[in-house]
Amino acid sequence: MSEKAIMKLKFWGVRGSHPVSGDRVTRYGGNTPCVEILVEGYPLIFDAGTGIIKLGQEIAQSSKDDSSFRAAIFFSHLHHDHTQGLPFFSPIFDPNFMLNIFLPNLSSQSPEEIISNIMTPPVFPVAFQQTLSTKALHCIDGTQIVIIDPVNGHAETSSPFRENSFQDKIVVRTLRSFAHPQGVLNYRIEWSGKSIVYATDIEGYVNGDRKLVNFARGADILIHDAQYTDEHYLGLREVGNTTQGYGHSTVTMACQIASEAQVGQLFLFHHDPNYDDATLDQMRKLAKRQFQNVETAREGLMLRLYNNAGTHLSRRQVIQAPAV
Ligand SMILES: [Zn+2]
Ligand SMILES: [Zn+2]
Repeated sequence: MSEKAIMKLKFWGVRGSHPVSGDRVTRYGGNTPCVEILVEGYPLIFDAGTGIIKLGQEIAQSSKDDSSFRAAIFFSHLHHDHTQGLPFFSPIFDPNFMLNIFLPNLSSQSPEEIISNIMTPPVFPVAFQQTLSTKALHCIDGTQIVIIDPVNGHAETSSPFRENSFQDKIVVRTLRSFAHPQGVLNYRIEWSGKSIVYATDIEGYVNGDRKLVNFARGADILIHDAQYTDEHYLGLREVGNTTQGYGHSTVTMACQIASEAQVGQLFLFHHDPNYDDATLDQMRKLAKRQFQNVETAREGLMLRLYNNAGTHLSRRQVIQAPAV
């Protein structure tokens, strides 16, 4: 008897800093960050890099006969590579689309001002608020959790101490990190005993980021920034100065967090735009020596999480599907 997946995860954009194209990046992809987690048909989208453009086309296509359809977008932070796809996310122009947007409260600006910075004339012909979809803007700062009903898309923020009352709800926890310029939010998505942690645009600390280790502890999947090789980070390469302090991690830093937090599977993410497929292959090999169950995130990769046997951790329950 085939079992229904309780969560699906798909990578739509895995490249950091700026999009790239061409023969040298065909296997891993060149779009900037966008990750989709599908729960009971409800898409939770993490970041709106250029990867969100294709996702938008798919959502629009699969919902074209629906009188209403929904999604939520969570922004890790507001650097250009995490927002530049939003104006081209076609569902926002559809009057039947209902969207929850969660923005990190990393400055004194209102949510309306923040979103206007991404999409307003003269940088884009149409202001975000003029688009036809129904939108709810929420500001979050790392002290709340977000509770979402996957059936109707209703979202509310809550104290993280209100446990045991979230049955049948998606819980999204937040961790504010200062290990990136202007700060960033890490997310932990929990549903029906499964959990995925999205931790991009962070730089490791000596002996590992202890808050992140606790935040990610026991997660089924950890998606972690791994932009640089150790040599590049330290400035030991013939080309390129040190990238220390840029706010991004090495493969070694990502593996250390995965190992200490005892996660089920690690995905290396936010690849340097100058790295070709062969370099990313090499980085994966290096990572394998440090954390056995590691993969390099690539565009189109989809995973399904199953809840068989009632076990909590799912190292063997993560089924890797071929890239599409
Ligand atoms: Zn980035
Ligand atoms: Zn950034």
